[in-house]
Formats: sequence, structure tokens, C-alpha cells
Amino acid sequence: MIDLKDVRKHYRSGNLKSEVLRGVNLQVKQGEYVAIMGKSGSGKSTMLNLLGTLDVLDKGEYKLAGKSVHKMSRGKRVRLRNEEIGFVFQHFQLIPNLSVFQNVLLPLTYGRKRLGKKKARVLALLDEMGLLDKKNQKPDRLSGGEKQRVAIARALVNEPGLILADEPTGSLDEETTENILSLFDRVHEQGATIVVITHDQEVADRAGRILRLQNGVLV
Ligand code: ADP
Ligand code: MG
Repeated sequence: MIDLKDVRKHYRSGNLKSEVLRGVNLQVKQGEYVAIMGKSGSGKSTMLNLLGTLDVLDKGEYKLAGKSVHKMSRGKRVRLRNEEIGFVFQHFQLIPNLSVFQNVLLPLTYGRKRLGKKKARVLALLDEMGLLDKKNQKPDRLSGGEKQRVAIARALVNEPGLILADEPTGSLDEETTENILSLFDRVHEQGATIVVITHDQEVADRAGRILRLQNGVLV
């Protein structure tokens, strides 16, 4: 599903160049559940953003389901993301002026299904996640756990084959964390490939394999 070869990525601020990823190699099979750990600032989000086609690598190769992402035009990358990837951002990143319903509908906007079908899918998912009574609320009226569930519903609405989650249980209480982990278990059982970044050993232990990002490489 995922094949990263010798991936490099640096950031530049002024004259300072810092190389964050220094030759990352990663192979993830379809249907695998992988956790990535590593110190704060070690480049975990940078790597996940590359996997999610939100950013581009400097050097190396990225193949997703056999397609060479590193050679794609921006338009193709965006389409790939919309159709095949569900991304759960580190700090939810809900759109503040859209309702819960509209936030979850967002990834379907450019799809080809009829609007009625799209709306039905959103309502079914909100119901499943216990958010139906919040559908017309704006994100700032929700608790942290509710916001995260909305973020996850938005990532799942396209039924993506690949779920990428950046510290999805970051600041949540134990019960909400458990709910989110069960949900990931369920989509994993249904065949999705999952890559999750976490600080939390308990979260990492749900995955089939744990990797650590250290000094710009995965070990
Ligand atoms: P992690 O998610 O493991 O905490 P990040 O990938 O967010 O790490 O960041 C890795 C390093 O890259 C950090 O030193 C961070 O300050 C730097 N960095 C991240 N994003 C940018 C950016 N857009 N511009 C410049 N530096 C950045
Ligand atoms: Mg991060």
C-alpha cells in the first residue's frame, strides 16, 4: 500500500536549513495497522503530511498502491487524497464556520455521487458516532472528544482505503480514547490500512507493528 524509499525533507528558515527526514524507508502492506512513535519535533507530522499528499518530499520515492506520488501533478495528488485517503489532523482542524454536518460532508463535495446519497452517508456516520444531535452545531460548541469524533467522521466519510491519523487521541480522556481506538479497530477489520502517530504506548499497542522516528530515519 505504502512504499517510501530514501525519503528526504528539509525546512528552511532564513539561512538555516534543517533536514527533518534523512532517508526514511517504509513499507506498509494493504490492511496493515502501523503505529509511529518518536520524540516531539522528530518529524512525525512531516512524514504523515507527505504520506497524506499534503506536502511533497525533496528527494526519494513515494508509491501509494503502486502509483508514484512523487511524480504526480498537484491536481492528481489532490484527487488521490480525496478519493483514497482519510486524514485525521493533530489538532482536529475543523472548519469553524461550518456545522458538524457540513464539516463531515466536505470531503464528498467533489465526488460524483448524488447530493442525496452524500447527505445520507454523512447522517449515517454521525449516527454511528453518536453525533446526530450535534449535527447543526458549530465546532466551538463541542467538547474535545466530540471535536475529535467529528474529525474522524470526516476522515472516514469517503470510505478510504488508507487512514492516516496524527496523534488522534492527543488530549482526550481514557473513555474517549477507547472509543476512538475501537472505531479504528473496526475500520481495520473492514480492511482499511491504518498509520497512526502517537505518544501513547497504549494506543501504539493496538497496532500490528510499532516504528520509531529517530534522527530523521525510521527504526
Ligand atoms: P513532530 O510531529 O514529530 O513533533 P514535526 O514534523 O512537526 O515533528 O516537526 C519536525 C521539525 O521540523 C521540528 O523541528 C519543527 O520545528 C520543524 N518544522 C515543522 N514544520 C515546519 C515548517 N512548516 N517550517 C519550518 N520548520 C518546520
Ligand atoms: Mg506532530
